Amino acid sequence: MVTKVNGSTKRVGLSPTMHNGFYGRDILSVKQFAREDLDYIFGVAEEMEAIVRRVGATDLLKGSILANLFYEPSTRTSSSFAAAMQRLGGSVIPINEVRYSSVTKGESLPDTIRTLEAYADLVVLRHPEVGASQIAARYSRKPIINAGDGVGEHPTQALLDLFTIQQELGRVDGLHIAMAGDLKYGRTVHSLARLLCLYDVEMSFVSPDILRLPEEVRDEVIALGKPVRETHAIEDIIETVDVLYVTRVQKERFSDLTQYESVRNLYEVTTDLMSRAKPKMILMHPLPRVGEIHYDVDADPRAAYFRQMENGMYVRMALLAAVLGKA
Ligand code: ASP
Repeated sequence: MVTKVNGSTKRVGLSPTMHNGFYGRDILSVKQFAREDLDYIFGVAEEMEAIVRRVGATDLLKGSILANLFYEPSTRTSSSFAAAMQRLGGSVIPINEVRYSSVTKGESLPDTIRTLEAYADLVVLRHPEVGASQIAARYSRKPIINAGDGVGEHPTQALLDLFTIQQELGRVDGLHIAMAGDLKYGRTVHSLARLLCLYDVEMSFVSPDILRLPEEVRDEVIALGKPVRETHAIEDIIETVDVLYVTRVQKERFSDLTQYESVRNLYEVTTDLMSRAKPKMILMHPLPRVGEIHYDVDADPRAAYFRQMENGMYVRMALLAAVLGKA
């Protein structure tokens, strides 16, 4: 069951046809999930994929409205949530450019949330501050989905990452998974590392010293019984990994741009590096990439990042249907 993060079940516009652990809940952190929750969502996501491939769309969420509120740039997360809602027959209020909204007039997050929840059945929120989605959830009677809170978490990305590993390699247990790049500011890594603690995996973390996994996340992973192996070089792990998860150095989080310049090009996955990896491993990236993976690697069948990105829509369809009680 999903933990009751925010008190009682929230109001959603539809009467549920199915009660599940997600119905009427906020989705704020991966810490809410148990393994059964993931199995449930991944099962529904597979069904969503089959529906999209067969007929393109359904009217499961006909009449429902999602508010997509993005205070930070986004291509994949915002458009895949919008596509997911529309393929389920619902509609979307897009506020991707907060500078054209009342936020520029000085409106507070709680007031903006109160407004959107009056019109929509759930709100997807991306915000530069850690914990913003928790604050939003406190004010909203409708479910809030965290689509990235600064350097905090990105729970729906971690769900689609894990779904991709399972689809590509047929299992998660028993794998060696390495995350490389900006482990300090990369919220997708913070969520994925935590979520992987539900599985029997070996994790390696590859970064320069100034971009190491934050102590808080490292301590949580260790407390959940997973050894944290840290190294500076992808070469140290390339021959043994089943999943190499590469991330962008998060330029927007640096106050000192010379520090950013000193680490921005540290890791570059080339065809040469890939030639040393296992024949059945996969290469993942939450995207956007800005030089970490060379374009000629795209032709390698182990390059899974575009399939990973597509999976985001199926997983988000599953999540929307589950939160609105229609999965
Ligand atoms: N798209 C991901 C995020 O929003 C990764 C990134 O921006 O590098 O966190």
